Amino acid sequence: MGERKGVNKYYPPDYDPKVGGLNKFLGTHALRERARKIDKGIIIIRFEMPYNIWCEGCKNHIGMGVRYNAEKTKVGMYYTTPIYEFKMKCHLCDNHFVIRADPANLDYVIQSGARRQENRWDPTQNEQIVPETKETQKRLFDDSMYKLEHGSEDKNLADSSKPRLAQLFNRNEDLWADSYTANQKLRAEFRKRNNELKDTVARDNKLLKKSSLAIPLLAEREEDKKMASLLSMKLKPSKSILENTESVRNKIISQSSLPTCNFSRSKEEKAVRILSKSKSDLGIVHKRNSTDISSNASEKKPKLSVSLVGDYGTSSESD
Ligand SMILES: [Zn+2]
Repeated sequence: MGERKGVNKYYPPDYDPKVGGLNKFLGTHALRERARKIDKGIIIIRFEMPYNIWCEGCKNHIGMGVRYNAEKTKVGMYYTTPIYEFKMKCHLCDNHFVIRADPANLDYVIQSGARRQENRWDPTQNEQIVPETKETQKRLFDDSMYKLEHGSEDKNLADSSKPRLAQLFNRNEDLWADSYTANQKLRAEFRKRNNELKDTVARDNKLLKKSSLAIPLLAEREEDKKMASLLSMKLKPSKSILENTESVRNKIISQSSLPTCNFSRSKEEKAVRILSKSKSDLGIVHKRNSTDISSNASEKKPKLSVSLVGDYGTSSESD
């Protein structure tokens, strides 16, 4: 944009050619905004990342070809070639990268703020076919002795890779010579896997239905099984219904029937005394025990006393 503005050919009516050029007259730099730090020797350019890097601020991967507005400064010379340094801010965090041109190795070197993803390797190391260099080609053409040596080297290389090529060929043959059997095997494998998946889904659905849940279940893993076996639940042996009922009954009996009443020990003893006195006054219990008289009135009284004593809980043995 700055460059485009610099070639603006509009001359205002009050333009005075004696001042100099149009930019001088307007008091602007030809690069406009990109030259706002020109007094510090910095111009702002568009820098394209030459290789993959990792930002050291946010640890994000930044791919080759991502473009930044970078501050370009000259930091030195390599013979007659200036060495430039580029400073730019990460677009994902507040970290700054500083990358410097390396004319000696035709490369860029990261000075700070990032780490290079190493994608440089020698193709001959992983047995890639590398075309001959210009020098070798020239020498092969001119030097017949060198051509002979080179030829025998190539022959040796071909001989040494023959067994591996044969292995690869046989492996391929084994797999695909009998396509019918290969197909059969594959289909059998797929069928088995499909059935397993179906079984798993059925089992999961059954479990979900049983526990009234509607959540996606993850696959069962060996680790989970081990963990579950280590966490053994120590539950109390379950009581029978009768035992449960009995314990609930005992609890109710030992409580006071009125929630607000607090029965102290003395009040309780007094109540027992009154009750036992009234019984002996009437002589009902003894008479009933000894003479076995059965009347409606005498039947009711002991029952009443029993129920009252039951409410106080502890007085049953004193009766
Ligand atoms: Zn970053």
